[in-house]
Amino acid sequence: MNIRTLLVATSNAHKTQEIQAMLGDCWQVEDLRAHPHLPSPDETGETFEANARIKAEAASRELPDLLVLSDDSGLEVDALGKAPGVRSARYAGPEARDADNRERLKAELTGVPQDREGGWAARFRCCMALAQGGETLAHFEGAVEGWVIASEQGEGGFGYDALFVPEGHADSFGVLSAAVKNQLSHRARALERVRDYLGNG
Ligand code: IMP
Repeated sequence: MNIRTLLVATSNAHKTQEIQAMLGDCWQVEDLRAHPHLPSPDETGETFEANARIKAEAASRELPDLLVLSDDSGLEVDALGKAPGVRSARYAGPEARDADNRERLKAELTGVPQDREGGWAARFRCCMALAQGGETLAHFEGAVEGWVIASEQGEGGFGYDALFVPEGHADSFGVLSAAVKNQLSHRARALERVRDYLGNG
């Protein structure tokens, strides 16, 4: 088997694990934890695509021989005007942890009328950019529709997983197994397009 290496331009071990699990054994996935000297660029874009490009190109400029994949993702809640959106990672402040961001989301939704049964309509979005030699080769999008619930459910996953129930399911991503999440998530859908682009070998 011809094993190819992919550098994921993230230090988020959860994202890396999901991407490695979805790509399978043909790919050796590493991330920025293996390259601690790389500066992390400011995510100044106003869209997931802009930030995905910034991250992929910054890492790729430093490591031009590697194929680099970036992932910029977040949660859009319709009742909050699509917030937290591109600010999902920093919703509760620049140093926010996942639990702080979930607290802020619950606080923002307190008193907001639910716009669907069981919660508030929402989706996770993901944009991935693939870069080599400092330039973006292509970008890929994926989304999963669902709703945000008022209180956390489950301990699995990361980020807003415990507050998000995907369409067609009764449990949050914090309860559903990694295998189920990796079949239907925004990241899975974007990555499927990356795989089509790269081919399987
Ligand atoms: P990024 O690392 O700048 O793309 O920020 C992504 C942020 O969006 C994460 O820190 C999470 O808060 C949220 N997020 C993205 N994907 C997921 C997911 O699959 N589950 C839960 N939260 C996610």
